[in-house]
Amino acid sequence: MTTLSRRQALFAGATMPLAATFLPGIARAQEAMQGSGFAPWNRFKLGSFEVTTLLAGTRASDKPQETFGTNASPEDFAALSAANFIPADMTQNFFTPTVVNTGSEIVLFDTGLSAEGTLAALTAAGMTADMVDVVVITHMHGDHIGGLMGADGTTPTYLNARYVTGAVEHNHWSGAANEGFDKNVRPLNDKFTFIDDAGSVATGITGMAAFGHSPGHMVYQVESGGQRLMITADTANHFVWSLQRPDWEVRFDADKAAAAAVRKQVFGQIAADRIPFIGYHMPFPGVGFVEAAGEGFRYVPASYQLMLNG
Ligand SMILES: [Zn+2]
Repeated sequence: MTTLSRRQALFAGATMPLAATFLPGIARAQEAMQGSGFAPWNRFKLGSFEVTTLLAGTRASDKPQETFGTNASPEDFAALSAANFIPADMTQNFFTPTVVNTGSEIVLFDTGLSAEGTLAALTAAGMTADMVDVVVITHMHGDHIGGLMGADGTTPTYLNARYVTGAVEHNHWSGAANEGFDKNVRPLNDKFTFIDDAGSVATGITGMAAFGHSPGHMVYQVESGGQRLMITADTANHFVWSLQRPDWEVRFDADKAAAAAVRKQVFGQIAADRIPFIGYHMPFPGVGFVEAAGEGFRYVPASYQLMLNG
């Protein structure tokens, strides 16, 4: 005990001058913070395909119930949020185009609010705009078609690409004056091919009608080597509010009842099949699974399952 006490005393004594020599270290407390963040891309294998999600942009916004639960009571909205460890008065939105490399073609699903964010993420992921062979537009809201044209507003961003979208969606937007469509889509009309339910985009990529969020909104099944994935676009726009409560009305859903019915149908199938999906507005990297739970679905973000694909 005596020896220990002496050692402790010696150690305590030794720290005094050490502490003094570290005083200049106080300046280190003024190091600039870097800001929170993460790499804007995530890639995994699906059979012989490579799938890359791109974070084209992200932003926080307030009053989320006015977007994601217009027919819910404030009490229910607050309770579900708290149960899932998210605030009820703020949300963080994500905009996540997906690239599928089939080995023979590079297929980009949606283009972001503008070309800039998607191109930055594409570059970080080791690809360039001129490598894109096919651009698929899931539906024609601004955050999906906004990157079709470059910064000058008139030059196509993906110069070597052909374009695919749903016939119903294109017919809807082309029939009426619409600034976003007129600027981004109409100039490319000659390069578009149009598909209906079960239409093929490329080897292993099939469109499926999922109307509701917009009049001709479509989702896409990707299949290679016996592995499957769904690109669900905007079928559900929030991982808690829209998946756990598919009947909660979303401001951006054009046909609220059809959108709710399609949410239950699409995610019911994904849950039954136990396959992964990519949601355009899910928390980045936007890849997860769902399990049927109560009146809706529990979202299970992908952890390492897809890394095991090689
Ligand atoms: Zn969207």
